[in-house]
Amino acid sequence: MRLDKLLANSGYGSRKEVKQLLKKEQVTVDGKVVKDPAMHVDPDRQEIYVFGEKLEYKKYIYIMMNKPKGVISATEDLREKTVIDLLSPLLRHYHPFPVGRLDKNTVGLLLLTNDGDLAHQLLSPKKHVPKTYFARVKGKVTEEDVRAFQQGVVLDDGTITKPAELKILKSGDLSEIELTIYEGKFHQVKRMFEAVNKKVVFLKRLSMGNLTLDPNLKYGDYRELTDEEVKAVQ
Ligand code: URA
Repeated sequence: MRLDKLLANSGYGSRKEVKQLLKKEQVTVDGKVVKDPAMHVDPDRQEIYVFGEKLEYKKYIYIMMNKPKGVISATEDLREKTVIDLLSPLLRHYHPFPVGRLDKNTVGLLLLTNDGDLAHQLLSPKKHVPKTYFARVKGKVTEEDVRAFQQGVVLDDGTITKPAELKILKSGDLSEIELTIYEGKFHQVKRMFEAVNKKVVFLKRLSMGNLTLDPNLKYGDYRELTDEEVKAVQ
């Protein structure tokens, strides 16, 4: 990788700013001052120091976001604002993408990474990774619905859902529930409630596998996963 790209990706400023750094002889590669921004370096094999500090190069980035309403879970879109648009330019340098999709009006836990293997593991239908949602549902959610979701309901396209755990938190004209599903069909939670003649009016994802939404994150906020969290999702 080019040295200026590596330094820019690692948070040392724009390519232009990085060029200045190099000019000021603040960067060494394997002990030698380097001034050429186009020099090719291998951060896994070479020791790179900036301002006398060792550069810790990260190949992968793992970000937890509390997705707000009104943005789409895509990397780019001509018309709509995407979750990637919410990230800082530094994080965008890593080219993260959302692991799975939340609908435009769904909020809550979204993992963004550039680690394709991890994304594959979490999304593979064979792995049955649990996803837990909180929802407000128009209509009275009943024990009958709990049993129906446990057995599997028939969606509008005729598919039958896998056993899911429905917990009623509040039952009334506007019910509140927590639902854990082990698959990820398109609009699955909303369609499961449609199958029992109810309408989801608010949907928030709380967890995905071993990863739980940090309650300190406000809508639209994000942070990198801790090392423990990365280990737990792998
Ligand atoms: N189920 C839905 O219906 N929507 C989501 O965004 C996620 C799960």
